[in-house]
Amino acid sequence: MLLLKKKTLTLLALAILGAPIAAQAWVKDRVYKFTVLHTNDHHGRFWQNEHDEYGLAAQKTMMDQIKYDVQAHGGAVLILSGGDINTGVPESDLQDAEPDFRGMNLVGYDAMAIGNHEFDNPLSVLRQQQKWAKFPLLSANIYQKSTGKRLFQPWALFNRMGLKIAVIGLTTDDTAKIGNPEYFTDIVFHKPATEAKAVVEELRQHEKPDVIIAATHMGHYDNGNHGSNAPGDVEMARELPAGYLDMIVGGHSQDPVCMAKENVKQSDYVPGTPCQPDRQNGTWIVQAHEWGKYIGRADFTFLNGKLTLEHYELVPINLRHKVTNADGSVSWINYTQEIAKNPAMMKLLTPFQKKGEAQLNVKIGSVDGHLEGDRSKVRFVQTNLARVILSAQMERTGADFAVMSGGGVRDSVEAGDITYKDVLKVQPFGNTLVYVDMKGSEVEKYLAVVANKQVDSGAYAQFANVSLTADGNGVHNVKIKGEPLQADKTYRMATLSFNATGGDGYPVITQLPGYVNTGFVDAEVLKQYIEKHSPLQAAAFAPHDEILYQQKAAATEQKADEPPKKWRLARIELAMREAWSSLF
Ligand SMILES: [Zn+2]
Repeated sequence: MLLLKKKTLTLLALAILGAPIAAQAWVKDRVYKFTVLHTNDHHGRFWQNEHDEYGLAAQKTMMDQIKYDVQAHGGAVLILSGGDINTGVPESDLQDAEPDFRGMNLVGYDAMAIGNHEFDNPLSVLRQQQKWAKFPLLSANIYQKSTGKRLFQPWALFNRMGLKIAVIGLTTDDTAKIGNPEYFTDIVFHKPATEAKAVVEELRQHEKPDVIIAATHMGHYDNGNHGSNAPGDVEMARELPAGYLDMIVGGHSQDPVCMAKENVKQSDYVPGTPCQPDRQNGTWIVQAHEWGKYIGRADFTFLNGKLTLEHYELVPINLRHKVTNADGSVSWINYTQEIAKNPAMMKLLTPFQKKGEAQLNVKIGSVDGHLEGDRSKVRFVQTNLARVILSAQMERTGADFAVMSGGGVRDSVEAGDITYKDVLKVQPFGNTLVYVDMKGSEVEKYLAVVANKQVDSGAYAQFANVSLTADGNGVHNVKIKGEPLQADKTYRMATLSFNATGGDGYPVITQLPGYVNTGFVDAEVLKQYIEKHSPLQAAAFAPHDEILYQQKAAATEQKADEPPKKWRLARIELAMREAWSSLF
């Protein structure tokens, strides 16, 4: 009687407060078990690599195995992705990641965060991918500018063993900055943390989920030090009121989030070893490196409204390391037990893989002359092929000029038809396109280093939209797009991640405030440029003595007012080579 009265009063109180009379889904003193399985940043890796590592076929086997194990212990699984399914492997890119999405259906993914690379194609492609996917692609913070409406489903609800679990999608607000600008004319990215707060409050009011998980694509930055990137998972967890998010399943920074100590990730995480996820402000933060190398496994129990992480691990998917045997031969040894490939998945993916391989041989464009990429040229003189590559980089990033190591150009392109395979021979390394905004004074310092890299080395710099004279120590007569360099003006430079991180002894630029890694793969950028501008005219990219070399200042005694002596022999030889190469 008394009990009944109390309950009635509570219901009355709730009704007065205007809260919906939807009780929590959980039952008192019942232990609920559920497991979150997660991956992120697949980047086109539906197929295993040449060493038989990762791939959706082995992933499917392991997901099933864990699922049966969890079910046998009275639990249920929720499979989430932290996004960036697109971009990275030509066989996938050429098919708009259809094999990847269909493969994810077969694995049994429940939901996915939309990553920045989901915008590497026009929105129509992403809409098609949503149709292929039998799971929702979530993002709460992406809006259409013109209508002010959300472009994607913001969250999804799941019932696991009677527990109501909400999954919210969030996407880095860096997406427009690092993506292809032409695709963002009518799209705007709101701040994820602000959006998350509003969405959680809305969910709490109307849906009353027992557990709230954010599937994000924002990056994990140790202790919230996000540098030139937009704030990531750590910053969001700290900014939100405690208890708003139970867990963040992340992506984007492509790290195994396994903590060495508080706020510091392990730098060289070894596959198969224990992994302690991050925890900020009561929110667990996880990420499973990249490419399907791991499945992250988080086993939770839920009792009387309290969520406990019982166990966490990163399960390696056929990751191997190279071992040199006593006889000098090389073997690739598994870190953990070999995982068989799921036959149904192989049946699904094999035709896609074959089709992708065949498409590499399809014509993407043409050129009316030889594009010079021979090792004996690109390390000695400016070449027309390097100019094509750098032009592609400038066009994609809106840069004023571009620079790269000559050694990064690996093959020539012959006159006639061009295939994607030809492009991949020229740029096989899968570096990403980056850019940085610098003052003219900084540009001069940068050029002084790279323009004086030794001829006849991989570091020898190739330039586009730059003319200068290098004297062994510094540079002068620097012009960008034909105009004299101005110390106070801001210039945008495009280059490759390899050089940006100090490759070939180039100055490290990744720490500069104006630095952006677009994530676009070099060969894909070149491919699209060729597609767009074919037939290419080789002569339009011919160098015209823009880069000149003088004798090293230290090697001669010169008076300040005396024009520097030319390093004649080398200079003439270089000019001849340059002229020679432009004849091709
Ligand atoms: Zn990303």
